[in-house]
Amino acid sequence: MDKKIAYTAIKPTGVLTLGGYIGIAQNLKSITENYNSYICIADLHALTINPDPQELKNNTYKLLALYLSLGIDTENTTLYLQSQVHEHAEMNWILSNFTMYGEATRMTQFKDYQAKSKEVNMGLLNYPILMAGDILLYDTDIVPVGIDQKQHVELCRNIAIRFNHKMGETLKIPDVMIRKEGYKICGLSEPTKKMSKSDRGDTGTIFIEDTEEEIKKKIKRAVTDSESTVRYDVENKPGVSNLLTIYACLNNIEIKQAEEHFKNSNYGTLKTEVADTIVKTLTSLQEKYYKYLSNKEYLDEILEKGRQKAQIKARETINRVYSKLGIIR
Ligand code: AMP
Repeated sequence: MDKKIAYTAIKPTGVLTLGGYIGIAQNLKSITENYNSYICIADLHALTINPDPQELKNNTYKLLALYLSLGIDTENTTLYLQSQVHEHAEMNWILSNFTMYGEATRMTQFKDYQAKSKEVNMGLLNYPILMAGDILLYDTDIVPVGIDQKQHVELCRNIAIRFNHKMGETLKIPDVMIRKEGYKICGLSEPTKKMSKSDRGDTGTIFIEDTEEEIKKKIKRAVTDSESTVRYDVENKPGVSNLLTIYACLNNIEIKQAEEHFKNSNYGTLKTEVADTIVKTLTSLQEKYYKYLSNKEYLDEILEKGRQKAQIKARETINRVYSKLGIIR
């Protein structure tokens, strides 16, 4: 039987955080082994923040190097750059005609941007529609994401259902896949909020490029609470619960087991062991990451191979869509 199709993407808007690593990257290798996978570097999505061009270029290579250092086999997986497959931009326009203005403006991430910023460009409103196109172009069965993207995958399903209803059965309806624990890693200084790339410079975010010293310093400063018992209780002890989640996910154990492990420990011990675990994980990742990053020629070859494979499938889907719409090909 053919394997089911998985689709996932990360934006090259900055260096990946430990949250993004746990939420999605950590499990990517096993996802690519179990599914026919399309792994995307979403550089068109990155444009919504008007990044510096040289930085966008650097971050694109960095993300590719990261994907490779996770051990993804590029023979069996389609690893590609979104902008190199123009069908994504085409699909974005098509699907915007099947998306209601009201449902796009109701997206939490969009509303958060609106609340925070005076300048809200159309790309931010369009973001989930571009994402829906990404997913639907590959006849995707499952979309592994962190919890922050769940609502966008739901919108994608609604757009596809609406398209099929109006134009006849055309698009496959995907399901979201969210890990059981670690789907929302929080910031270390504000443990009720998602750990985010935009907090660069803040001690609350760990980046996958951080050094041992930086990691230890940030974990040492992580906000806990005035109690002294190590216990998982997101509501009353968000900081400690976040540290337990990080420890559990990186050691591939359940949070309950992590809680048991630390039941007689103080916060100092918890922090030391969490920091050591992160250092161990990231040091071994960084070794491969910097090696890939230093070989631009190889990275360009990988992108070209990915573009060719992705485009075959994307073209097939977009032709099917165009023909349903009455667009002459
Ligand atoms: P982004 O870097 O925003 O493109 O996100 C890449 C992936 O990582 C998406 O699937 C997000 O849902 C996931 N992700 C980002 N931040 C976190 C976090 N703090 N905790 C868990 N998952 C996250």
